[in-house]
Amino acid sequence: MKKSLKKQTAFDPYLERIVLQPEDLPDRIHTKLSDHYAWCFCEFCGNPTEYSAILEAPKVIKRLKRGNAKIVPLTETMYTAAQERAHVLTSRYEQACEGKFGPYEAARMLMRYCNIIEMQGDRSADSFREQVERKLLLAEWAKHGKAVWATKLPGQTDKDKKPSKLYCENHNPQRSDNARRAYQRDRRFISEYHDFIEKIWSHGINSGSLPTWDIEAHAYVRKEAYRQVQFLKSPTIMIDDFLKKGSMTQAEIARKLGVSRQAVSATIKRRAKKSDKCH
Ligand SMILES: [Zn+2]
Repeated sequence: MKKSLKKQTAFDPYLERIVLQPEDLPDRIHTKLSDHYAWCFCEFCGNPTEYSAILEAPKVIKRLKRGNAKIVPLTETMYTAAQERAHVLTSRYEQACEGKFGPYEAARMLMRYCNIIEMQGDRSADSFREQVERKLLLAEWAKHGKAVWATKLPGQTDKDKKPSKLYCENHNPQRSDNARRAYQRDRRFISEYHDFIEKIWSHGINSGSLPTWDIEAHAYVRKEAYRQVQFLKSPTIMIDDFLKKGSMTQAEIARKLGVSRQAVSATIKRRAKKSDKCH
């Protein structure tokens, strides 16, 4: 396989140096990163991967001699300047909404300064301000150096492995013993996890309650599926209790336990298989 030579600049906060990170990614990671929604989620749960958590937090650095660099501290002045600029922009946006600059200016400002998907249909001045404040602070900060992505999460030391593009901190087998155990535990349930994701989506799409373009909906579906997998894994004492009563349907048990009917039915099936093996 031909390796791509593309590299990206990144700042290593521990070495305090600018480093080049190779972009020659394995196919598996290529596939993941090319999916508009799945790329930022852990393979096993609804948390962001370590990699995407880092993308959320750019840093501004000052280049020193011989490739050394240091983080430029955020100061009160930068905060104030960003706030002031955000205030000016927001009041202009409010006027634009009233139609002062013609029929298109408000929409143009939204397109230019905001992440429309993140705003989830809330086009109020407050929501606009929230969007621009973050950006303007980074812009103010960047005036004093160069904005780059860090190569590690806060709290990770130099010896730690690179941020994972596949797993969150709790599931990266290379991160800690606990994470490795969680990885091994949840790996066995990966097909169930994907089944739940599919079921929750199809239910949500049919009832119109889950917009597929909304990243929050994707996070919700994955978190919910993960919750149901956890339920599937846990000892089924609760279900046993309900089944002993005899009169409850799977749907009723599901409602009582706050999980989907499919989860209850899958658990009962697993139990049946297990007891078959025992006899
Ligand atoms: Zn995870």
